[in-house]
Amino acid sequence: MHDAAGHSEAAEDQRQLRSGSSPWRMLQHSLPRTPLLADLRCDVAIVGAGITGSFAAEALARQGLSVVVVDRLMPGRGSTAASTAMLQWEIDRSLTELTELYGLDKAADIYRRSYAATADLCDYIQALGISCLFAKRSSLYLGGGDTGLTQLAREHGLRRQVDLPGDLLDRGTLIERFMMDRPGALLSPGSAEADPLCLSLGLLRIALAQGAVLVEDEVVAYDWSSDSASIGLAGGRTVEARHLVLATGYEMPDFITTDLHRRSSSWCLATVPQQPSALWPERALIWESSHPYLYARTTDDGRIVVGGEDQATENVKEREQLMPDKIAEITSKMRNLWPYASYEIAHAWSAEFGETDDGLPLVGPVPGAARVLAAYGYGGNGITFSYMASRILAARIAGTRRPWFDDFALDRTAP
Ligand SMILES: Cc1cc2nc3c(=O)[nH]c(=O)nc-3n(C[C@H](O)[C@H](O)[C@H](O)COP(=O)(O)OP(=O)(O)OC[C@H]3O[C@@H](n4cnc5c(N)ncnc54)[C@H](O)[C@@H]3O)c2cc1C
Repeated sequence: MHDAAGHSEAAEDQRQLRSGSSPWRMLQHSLPRTPLLADLRCDVAIVGAGITGSFAAEALARQGLSVVVVDRLMPGRGSTAASTAMLQWEIDRSLTELTELYGLDKAADIYRRSYAATADLCDYIQALGISCLFAKRSSLYLGGGDTGLTQLAREHGLRRQVDLPGDLLDRGTLIERFMMDRPGALLSPGSAEADPLCLSLGLLRIALAQGAVLVEDEVVAYDWSSDSASIGLAGGRTVEARHLVLATGYEMPDFITTDLHRRSSSWCLATVPQQPSALWPERALIWESSHPYLYARTTDDGRIVVGGEDQATENVKEREQLMPDKIAEITSKMRNLWPYASYEIAHAWSAEFGETDDGLPLVGPVPGAARVLAAYGYGGNGITFSYMASRILAARIAGTRRPWFDDFALDRTAP
């Protein structure tokens, strides 16, 4: 058995992925979870009941598989509760950057898949009828920092070349339509927003209704052999499965040795509800490409949610100490961009954030660990990637393989 516990003070600290409070907690409902009183066998055991584990649990339970989901916390209380839940198809690396890394054919393929996945995700949430304050939105990718109109025009040209939708706005048009003064922007359809906690819990509730079991415990050991995989729980019980899915968010068990990802921290705030006239047109999702970047959205009850100021620290105390300065900086940047709102802050929080060098998720078999699959939807559109991960893993478990799955492989070589 591979010991995954590591009960040191540092490990305890590491587990505290979030500080402060996000606006989503108010809407949460609890789900039935039980400690395990006897060993279990199932088709798929999923470690982690955040948004990634929830998408996977729903998809796999719907395929008629017996599913056990294990989380040491209340479901959704990891990074999912801290997410700003902008459901976007534009990934962390622009199409221009991804083309420089992988060439246009592969970059375009990845972008088109992300676009299609976001459209599917929207249909899926609506078809399931999950009440999660879901709304379709445009996205406004603002120039800033090194990204001027020339760079935006280049990105827009590439997107058009590969049939991705969106308009290029020059500075004048941007001011006229959005009252925001930046060198230009790309305005694109096809994104959405949701309450991440409600979405995650809604998915899990549907999975439970389809027979999935939610276990409250910590996985402290992993084992795999040729015909099964198993996890050992802190409570002493074992779950044996045909397949194991790791959906542990920004904490990976130490037998995953990929060096493609790095962890940092991000800070966010939510204002008090605004008058509707104090919110920007279309309530578009905003992504400013300055360094460090700024992202913003609105909520169903009229709050402005803004995040950014990412910094490479995993230390909880440092993250909390930095909070007042980071929140002040984010407020000042947002006020500069959009001076028409009240910036009375109702919620401020920070959380760990993971990204990969090429901006793509880590999904698929874990090298050297038979029957163990990873679902790590890292990056600024981690939730879209979590959804894609659930589809890829469901296909793999059903015995289907597609060449493009390898774009997200844990052992891929990033250039
Ligand atoms: C501040 C911030 C803003 C973000 N904004 C966006 C955004 O706007 N749009 C977007 O798409 N994405 C965004 N993301 C990214 C997105 O939120 C994450 O990719 C996503 O929430 C990760 O979900 P997860 O289920 O993989 O991880 P988590 O939600 O962290 O869930 C992992 C779960 O695994 C459990 N776990 C871990 N180890 C064990 C163990 N050994 N035993 C039992 N349980 C275990 C944890 O308790 C946890 O509940 C943001 C992230 C942050 C931090």
